[in-house]
Amino acid sequence: MFADIHVHSNASDGTCSPTELVLLAKEKGLSGLSITDHDTTLAYQEAIPAAQKIGLKLGVGIEFSCVFEENDVHLLGYDFDLNSPSIAALCLRHQNRRAHRNMQIIEKLRAQNIDVSLDEIENTEGTVGRPHIADLMLKKGYVGSIKEAFNRYLGEGKSCYARGDVLTVDETIETLHEAHGKAFIAHPQLLSHAFPIQDLLEKPFDGIECWYGNLSSKSAEKWERIAHQKNWLMSGGSDFHGSIKPDIALGSQGVSEEIFNQIFEHLV
Ligand code: AMP
Ligand code: ZN
Ligand code: FE
Ligand code: FE
Repeated sequence: MFADIHVHSNASDGTCSPTELVLLAKEKGLSGLSITDHDTTLAYQEAIPAAQKIGLKLGVGIEFSCVFEENDVHLLGYDFDLNSPSIAALCLRHQNRRAHRNMQIIEKLRAQNIDVSLDEIENTEGTVGRPHIADLMLKKGYVGSIKEAFNRYLGEGKSCYARGDVLTVDETIETLHEAHGKAFIAHPQLLSHAFPIQDLLEKPFDGIECWYGNLSSKSAEKWERIAHQKNWLMSGGSDFHGSIKPDIALGSQGVSEEIFNQIFEHLV
C-alpha cells in the first residue's frame, strides 16, 4: 500500500484537519495521499505545505455528489489544476446547492419535531453535509447513532432526505477534463440494485474505484473486470472520515506506487 487516495478532512465532513491527515498518513507508513473532500479543495491550502514539510506525496483530489437518471452517484476527480476557474465555479454551484438543500432537510426534520438548526453546525468555511446534521441529531439525543440518523431520516429516499439541484455526471466529467483532470466513479459497490449502471459505464470516465473502505477484495472483482474492458484506471481508498466513522481507518485501502503515478501525473 503506497497511498490512500480517498480521504475527507474537516473542510468537508471529516473530523481531522488537513495537517492531521498528512501526519496520520505518514504515521501509518503511507508515502502518498489524496484528500477528496466533498465539493471543495479548501484542504489543499493547508495540506500542501504540511506534506512538503515531511516529504509526503500529495495528489490533488475531490469528491462530487452528482445525479444520474434521478439517482445519486459520487464521482472522484483527480489530478486536475487546483487553480482551475471551472473547478472553482463547479464547487461554488455545489456550495449553493448544499445551502439550499440543507435548509430543506432541516425543515423536514423540524416538521417531525426534531429541533436542529444550521446555526448549531460549525463548519463556516467548509462543506456542510448530512453527516454534520446526523452528528447534531446524535448530540441532541434524537438518535442513538449516526447510522440510525441515516437509516431513519437522512438516507436517500428517507423521510427527511432532500437532493437539491444536483449537478449532472456529464457536466462534472466535462469540467474535470477541462481542468486537465481525471474523472472516476466512486465506490460503485455502494450503488443500489436499481441504479442504471450500464448507462453510467457508457460515460467518458478515466477510472473506477475498485478497492473501497472495509470491503473485501471479492467486492472489487467485478469492477476490476470492467476497468480492464474499458481500459480505465483502477483506484482505491478508505473513505476515511475520522471519528465520525470510527470503523474506517486511514490507509485501510489504497493504491500501489505504480497506480499512484499513473493517476497523479502532476504532484502538488
Ligand atoms: P452529503 O454529502 O451531504 O450528501 O452526505 C454524503 C455523506 O454522508 C457520505 O459521503 C457519507 O460520508 C455519509 N453517508 C451517506 N450515507 C450514510 C449512511 N447510511 N451512514 C453513514 N454515513 C452515510
Ligand atoms: Zn463524506
Ligand atoms: Fe462518496
Ligand atoms: Fe468519500
